[in-house]
Formats: sequence, C-alpha cells, structure tokens
Amino acid sequence: MAKNSHPDPSLEVRIELAEIARRMFDRKLLDMAGGNLSARCGENIVISPRYAGSKKHWQLKPEDFIEGRIDSDDLLEDPRFSREGKAHLAIYRTLPIVNGVIHAHAFHVLPFAAQGKPIPPVLEGTQKFGTVPVAPYAPTQSAELAANAVQLLKVQEGALRAQAAAVILPTHGILIAGKDIWAAADALEQIDWNAWCLIAGKLLD
Ligand SMILES: [Zn+2]
Repeated sequence: MAKNSHPDPSLEVRIELAEIARRMFDRKLLDMAGGNLSARCGENIVISPRYAGSKKHWQLKPEDFIEGRIDSDDLLEDPRFSREGKAHLAIYRTLPIVNGVIHAHAFHVLPFAAQGKPIPPVLEGTQKFGTVPVAPYAPTQSAELAANAVQLLKVQEGALRAQAAAVILPTHGILIAGKDIWAAADALEQIDWNAWCLIAGKLLD
C-alpha cells in the first residue's frame, strides 16, 4: 500500500502499525507473550492494545489500536491500554525527536536481557546504534522502569538523530525509540541480528 494515501492520518498510522506488527511477529522480533508498538500522530499516541500478542497473535486491525493525548494520563484509564505502555508515553513526552516506539521480546535479544548484558555493535550497519545499554532493574510496568529507560535513551543523542536508540530491559526485553516507526522497526531487526552474531560468534571460537 502506498504511503500517505489516506486523508485520515490516524487511520494511515494504524494501517502501518498493523502491517509492521505482523511482519515483526513473523520474524520473531515480537512474540506472543507481550510487547507493544506505537507512533506519534500529532498530539496523540496510537498504540497497540493489551493482549495483542497473547490473544491476537499480532494479527491486528486498524481499529484494534488505541489512541489518546500524549500530554494526559487519560489513556492509563482505558482497560485496553497495554500495561507496558507507560514507557511509550514517557518517551514521547521527553524526546520530541521520537515518533515511533517498539517494546519487544525479540528472539536473539532475549539471552542478553536474561543475562543483563549490553549488546555491542559487531556489524558495520549497527555501529550507528553504539552499544545498547542495560537499564537498571525495576519491576515491569513500573514508572521507575520507564524513567530509567528514558534516561538511557536521552543520552544516546547521536543514535537518535541517526535513526533510533535502544535500551535492554533486564530479564525482560528491549525498548527502541526511533525517528519514526519504520526507523524503530529497522533498528530492532538490525540489533536482533547483531545479537545473533554475538551468540553465533561464540560457536566459532
Ligand atoms: Zn514486555
């Protein structure tokens, strides 16, 4: 589908998010256990709903996404709002350069999250992201985890300006903030494959 073909910007964003979610699930970048993706749409955030993985297997329709103002906590009252969505709101409020965010339990990133290890770049293409740092531990869905993650994204200014920045959530997954949702999705796949190269490299020793 051609981009910018819809007069309704919210619908266009929802169609793109649904497409990207399906592809990321097919590529084991998203799993059934959780995760979420969102985009900035004017003053609003458009974000995947709760249980998008476990109940819908990431086969989302445009109307499944939920939308609300970035500068308000109203969305937190919506029962369909993903419990992991607080970090997305915090990122959009703090970093105006960010227009797309993904939280994922990506297949090759999970061993690094499980062990609380950063992901250094070992491919030419991933140099621009630098070493993906590990956030200090805080409970999943807590405001503290969101604040820790935002702080670590904020200091990766160069990566954000180039494309996207990421942070590993210990024992959990990864959070990526991009210039737009396509930049974030591309960064997630590049970082995941970089993670695979680190794991596979051990087998070649
Ligand atoms: Zn998660």
